[in-house]
Amino acid sequence: MNLKEMDQNYVLQTYARNYVHFVKGENSILYDAEGRDYVDFGSGIAVCSVGHGNRRLADAICDQAGKLIHTSNLYLIEPQARLAKRLAELSGYDVKTFFANSGAEANEGAIKMARKYGEVEGEVKRYKIITLEHSFHGRTITALKATGQEAMHNYFGPFPDGFVYARDIEHIYDLIDDHTVAVMIELVQGEGGVQPMEVDEVKRLAKRLKSEDILLIVDEVQTGIFRTGEVLASNLYEITPDIITLAKGLGGGVPIGAILTTHKEILGLGEHGSTFGGNFLSTRAALEVLAILEEHKESGALDHALILFEERLKKIAEKYPDIFEKEVGVGFMRGLRVKGDKEAGDVVAAALIERVVVLKAGKNTVRFLPVLTITKEEMELGFERFERALSSL
Ligand SMILES: *Cc1c(COP(=O)(O)O)cnc(C)c1O
Repeated sequence: MNLKEMDQNYVLQTYARNYVHFVKGENSILYDAEGRDYVDFGSGIAVCSVGHGNRRLADAICDQAGKLIHTSNLYLIEPQARLAKRLAELSGYDVKTFFANSGAEANEGAIKMARKYGEVEGEVKRYKIITLEHSFHGRTITALKATGQEAMHNYFGPFPDGFVYARDIEHIYDLIDDHTVAVMIELVQGEGGVQPMEVDEVKRLAKRLKSEDILLIVDEVQTGIFRTGEVLASNLYEITPDIITLAKGLGGGVPIGAILTTHKEILGLGEHGSTFGGNFLSTRAALEVLAILEEHKESGALDHALILFEERLKKIAEKYPDIFEKEVGVGFMRGLRVKGDKEAGDVVAAALIERVVVLKAGKNTVRFLPVLTITKEEMELGFERFERALSSL
């Protein structure tokens, strides 16, 4: 039985898997079992923030694994305390953090925080949470219900009550009532199709929610940890959310989620927990990721690469008007909207044949989420191959 058969016979088939067999990587370059190189413009869906095969991250993980991987949250965990402090310092927010293991789980915790807030603050019990259409908040029952894509809700009800979907930011105001406790949004919708929110609209929303004592939860699972060029997208939008969730890029590939909140006493003893959350291995990895990215940002290299990447994508959008409508996105979260009669999936497939990895988002967007440490040479090679793929369409 070969590996593909093994996968198909024994792994539950929930993914439209490509049977490319990657075996190692170096920054933005992936190598398959035959030794062919691929340029990775997807970074494992915004996860491998410091690139593949990063020596510093690997050394930190190995060092930690040789000492302690896990002791449980019943005892002091040095890298967890240090990571919580770094997240507060780097973000510039006066927050405490709870550590989880994934994006969905971080959002679950954020929703629990909001529900508790609605129970203990104010005269009437508030429980309603407004989210946006085309949002994505994860796959657990509650995070899925928070996700404003009805098609994803098939089969899995009954769901927890209290989630309503706004068409856009302006529509949120119409949905607010006495029972509303929180609004949860992505500042740049990722899975929904690389859709940035308007800065002014978001600022106005943040102000209005504050004045009504409604919590603003920002799902930064994809936008967080320098993906937009700033530590958090909330920094870029110049807002101070009540709760921010993180996951994807934080551990550089090691599973970790985090919930940052300015409401430092919102959950008390025993009101939330996680066996694995914040263990030695994941928090040590995240500390190293933050150190690497902070240096990368400070040196100017990150901003330089962002500009180059954007320029290159804009040129491609202009050069192939039959395929693309426009270029969209922020920082290293970018996309090309394909024209009505074209399929984003076809572009992604053609790119893979030319050995450049790009992703699909929403219905009609080719998505680019490069590793944040991508070099100019890697970019050039990737775009050269991408253009070759386009001319084959
Ligand atoms: C990926 C993603 C999630 C879900 O994260 P998991 O780690 O897969 O649970 C939630 N929210 C956003 C914005 C995401 O991009």
